[in-house]
Amino acid sequence: ATPTALLVGTSRGAQRGILIKGPQVLEDTRRIDTIVLDKTGTITTGEAEVTDLAAEPGLHPAAVLTAAAAVESGSEHPIAAAIVARAQEQGIRPPRATDFEALPGTGAVATIKGTRVNVGQAELFEEIPSELLGLERAGTTVFVGWGGRARGAITVGDDIRETSADAVAELRYEGLGVYLLSGDTQANAAAVAEVVGIGAEDVIAGVKPQDKHEVVARLQSEGRVVAMVGDGVNDAAALARADLGLAMGTGTDVAMESADIVLVRADLDAVPDAIELSRDTLKVIK
Ligand code: ADP
Ligand code: MG
Repeated sequence: ATPTALLVGTSRGAQRGILIKGPQVLEDTRRIDTIVLDKTGTITTGEAEVTDLAAEPGLHPAAVLTAAAAVESGSEHPIAAAIVARAQEQGIRPPRATDFEALPGTGAVATIKGTRVNVGQAELFEEIPSELLGLERAGTTVFVGWGGRARGAITVGDDIRETSADAVAELRYEGLGVYLLSGDTQANAAAVAEVVGIGAEDVIAGVKPQDKHEVVARLQSEGRVVAMVGDGVNDAAALARADLGLAMGTGTDVAMESADIVLVRADLDAVPDAIELSRDTLKVIK
């Protein structure tokens, strides 16, 4: 490939909202045969909204929302943003929380008036009242509680990007294997996968942020050339580990820094576009 041709390819990408970080990247793009898609913020918009709010008997839902918003004020996670926004909409001014700690891939915790309050997955709690179960379906349900018990549940819905299903179909048509990788539960991840045409057998869920890059490495050890598409802090290591890393332009800085390609046009159909562009560019030169 001549430098000029690669440069032309790179600038053509830029015109289409595909920021390619160097001439070598186009060659890497052409080689990939497997693509791993993060769920939240990548297949979905990541602009989550609270769709459901429940409290255990005797507790007002607003109290659940208040405690959750206080904890989540310290978090950058899309779920946190949704909870804080909902509290604000309801005119709630959450108390100050201290000693915030992110529990990557699980939730968050902080101290409110001397009590450690948890927000996140079921595994954070020893006890979950039956009234709070069975709410997962239309989105991701997180629990809110203290003293080991979940006291409330908040369901956060997240729209699937409009072009995600077409993008998956196109990637398959181009002959790539497509996987969904998520820290969310298998049930939630499979529900999103189904909508975009990824079978449950190709869903790799419940993966902690520090383990996402190992999933990429495992696929590579099977001889695959892997592209990873992600947006979050939790995707950075996987983006770096992959043969090709693509970050959504709406994502976090660290994801964009770790990636080889930034999809400024934050739509999943930019991915097949990038692959096509690399193939065209390198074909012309030969
Ligand atoms: P994904 O891999 O789909 O982008 P993450 O790894 O960021 O998802 O999060 C996985 C799961 O961990 C979420 O679905 C949620 O249940 C929980 N979680 C992570 N961070 C938070 C938070 N700040 N508040 C509540 N729940 C969280
Ligand atoms: Mg994500």
